[in-house]
Amino acid sequence: MGLVVQKYGGSSVADAEGIKRVAKRIVEAKKNGHQVVVVVSAMGDTTDELIDLAEQVSPMPAGREFDMLLTAGERISMALLAMAIKNLGHEAQSFTGSQAGVITDSVHNKARIIDVTPGRIRTALDEGNIAIVAGFQGVSQDKKDITTLGRGGSDTTAVALAAALDAEVCEIYTDVDGVFTADPRVVKKAKKIDWISFEDMLELAASGSKVLLHRCVEYARRYNIPIHVRSSFSGLQGTWVSSEPIEQGDKQVEQAIISGVAHDTSEAKVTVVGVPDKPGEAAVIFRTIADAEINIDMIVQNVSAASTGLTDISFTLPKAEGRKAIDALEKNKSGIGFDSLRYDDQIGKISLVGAGMKTNPGVTADFFTALSDAGVNIELISTSEIRISVVTRADDVAEAVRAVHSAFGLDSDSDEAVVYGGTGR
Ligand code: ASP
Ligand code: MG
Repeated sequence: MGLVVQKYGGSSVADAEGIKRVAKRIVEAKKNGHQVVVVVSAMGDTTDELIDLAEQVSPMPAGREFDMLLTAGERISMALLAMAIKNLGHEAQSFTGSQAGVITDSVHNKARIIDVTPGRIRTALDEGNIAIVAGFQGVSQDKKDITTLGRGGSDTTAVALAAALDAEVCEIYTDVDGVFTADPRVVKKAKKIDWISFEDMLELAASGSKVLLHRCVEYARRYNIPIHVRSSFSGLQGTWVSSEPIEQGDKQVEQAIISGVAHDTSEAKVTVVGVPDKPGEAAVIFRTIADAEINIDMIVQNVSAASTGLTDISFTLPKAEGRKAIDALEKNKSGIGFDSLRYDDQIGKISLVGAGMKTNPGVTADFFTALSDAGVNIELISTSEIRISVVTRADDVAEAVRAVHSAFGLDSDSDEAVVYGGTGR
């Protein structure tokens, strides 16, 4: 019996009852002979509440003190969980990210893990303890300041510890039974996926699926750590994310042609109107955006009208970066040379993901037919080898996701998707 890392999200430990329920599960794993390392998120909506509080004392909280504040959420849950386990007659010790050896760069609020030195965790395990680690946090290598890994970062903590401790599996416990073929909050007939490759999971995460963080899947793929996403509210098998298909009973789970449909309404669209159609224009525009440290997603350039020699360039980016992008472009207006800017935050993105589309002609046509049958207008299109994405009106997204999900035969016969907890905040 090897070492397992279990991660419990905020909705699994939302209150004292939740903490006691989770403690029992952890003790079960220990009784089954595993060495158990647990990564825990802040209780319920604690992180959001701490952010609200910070915004009341400072308009744009950021940096060192903001991280110091946010990491308090995970400290509360880790200590309570250790107490609950002790109360069940088992030994447990809690550790902050820093104590667990999670070393990061010094970019506050979205630090990257650069090393994990889990000496204290090993010792705690060797002494027969269950080790509880605060997720989403670390300590910067140079300044020794406390950092956070960005929202939802506990998943990354779990996978990083699993890699450093050479764990058998990283179990991610959440408030749904696994990864579904679409967001079960939108598609009642979404199906649970038994197995999905790292590649398809990465595309789903990049396309707005929130069940696993992109950075966490990236990390798991790099170190080849199998992830088992499952619910802490049920005893069901969840979804395995790994490099090779798993076996279930005596049958091998097959690679699906289409893994799922993801959607994202967190982006906005910027259109630069009246750009001279000559070499170097796109370079200046996107250099301006890059210098403002903004990540963009899709790009579309239209053909120029022959009479004017002017063209429009549109791109999408996180809504939260919209203001910054507009300001940066306005400031450089004479350098770039354009007529005006248009900003639209009422857009949504729908993506179809699956390695099978490489070898199955017609997937693209079926996708567009489904959207057209649903009366959904398409504004932008982008593709990769294993994904097609379109931008539509935000209001059309739910309908479009359901239409595409049905068209590709992904609907389950029963309503198997259960959302057990969480306020979705
Ligand atoms: N508590 C943090 C958040 O809400 C980290 C996490 O949940 O993974 O973003
Ligand atoms: Mg959380």
